[in-house]
Amino acid sequence: MKVVMLGAPGAGKGTMASRLSAHYNIPHISTGDIFRENIKNQTELGKKAKAYMDEGQLVPDELTCNLVVDRIHKEDCKDGFILDGFPRTIPQAEALTKELAKTDEKVEYVINLDISDEDIVERMSGRRSCPKCNKIYHTVTPALRPKVEGVCDEDGTELVMRDDDKPETVMKRLAVYHEQTEPLVGYYKEQGVLHTVSGKNAIDEEFDLINKILVK
Ligand code: AMP
Repeated sequence: MKVVMLGAPGAGKGTMASRLSAHYNIPHISTGDIFRENIKNQTELGKKAKAYMDEGQLVPDELTCNLVVDRIHKEDCKDGFILDGFPRTIPQAEALTKELAKTDEKVEYVINLDISDEDIVERMSGRRSCPKCNKIYHTVTPALRPKVEGVCDEDGTELVMRDDDKPETVMKRLAVYHEQTEPLVGYYKEQGVLHTVSGKNAIDEEFDLINKILVK
């Protein structure tokens, strides 16, 4: 099953992708996580990506597409994958379509999580994540609160607020989303694979709604 999660930053793509990945036993591929991992390990890619990420801008397509093309050909993707945060531009979507078409494949489901800018800004202010395992938490949403405040349930690492979740950067990321990523809604609608779900549902409810789409 090849799935793309679409939606503004903070719409809940990562949370849903991680649940779906566990449920269907297919990898959750987050380009944001891959970049952050590279930044942590101070790789060349990480150094290049950081400058864009800190500004709330997108990392250039050529750096991003190659990375995803390599990743989806790994053995663990043989039964499919859940892409979270990719594609984010029309050229990225075209590169993915082209790559999959080489083996007569395509993206089967695009789940578009729909949520207003006001809700996003509010949600991002409480988002926290584990710098070690990337698990996402929230200071307010009950289902996403860690068992012990400020600490990752999985590995005990102190949770952090991502630099790019600070309010000024969130506004920039939203503007970039509307300008460069939102056109993908039309792109995938035209391909007949788009499913829009409200990103404001409670987490379990949203997961059930998405599952109903995927098992159809
Ligand atoms: P995310 O964790 O998906 O919100 O991504 C964090 C940041 O990583 C974004 O604001 C971008 O700077 C960068 N990024 C992640 N995915 C992509 C992508 N597909 N294309 C370009 N930049 C990306």
